[in-house]
Amino acid sequence: MPSSAALSSELLDGYRRFRSTRYQAERDRYRRLEQEGQRPTTIVVACSDSRSAPETVFDALPGELFVVRNVGGLVPVYAPDTRSHGASAALEFAILALGVRHVVVMGHGRCAGIAAAFDGTVPLTSSDFIGTWVAGLRDLVRELDPADLADPVQARRTLEHRSVEQSIVNLRTFPWIRSREEAGSLVLHGAWFDIALGELHELTPGGWLPVE
Ligand SMILES: [Zn+2]
Repeated sequence: MPSSAALSSELLDGYRRFRSTRYQAERDRYRRLEQEGQRPTTIVVACSDSRSAPETVFDALPGELFVVRNVGGLVPVYAPDTRSHGASAALEFAILALGVRHVVVMGHGRCAGIAAAFDGTVPLTSSDFIGTWVAGLRDLVRELDPADLADPVQARRTLEHRSVEQSIVNLRTFPWIRSREEAGSLVLHGAWFDIALGELHELTPGGWLPVE
């Protein structure tokens, strides 16, 4: 058996608070979910960033959201090869096995994963895991308007938005997503979370707008 250290007091304190408060309040729900299984209606693809947890932003109860998180909250293109694709496996399970009806791609402000796509922002190369993971975003950087690039804050936010839009394009490269969307049984959504304001913006036909 591999060795493993004890959980930190920070985690254990949090767990004890969960046991004594939230679990007590939601015990029946947890037991029902255990017996009946999960039936979430939405999968959220989001960044791993500790400040933008989808369950918190959407105030979700256990069993309500199926969540896949990675650096940048990116959806890769459909790649039916023999490599291991974690995000694609999560989408496959949520859509084909659980039958979710909504896919939400949620970016967020001050995203270090997105910032990594700007050359020189952080010392990453294509041989790093993150450099490889965000490589597709470099094409989006090259497509940015020079006016956007002049302001680093604006450039980053624009790329955070473009990244969500590209992930939605990438979702449609999965044949079982495209067919369900065309049949009206699956809806794709784009969202972006402003950390400081706690404000969610939504990708609408008219562009990015704050949710009322
Ligand atoms: Zn992020």
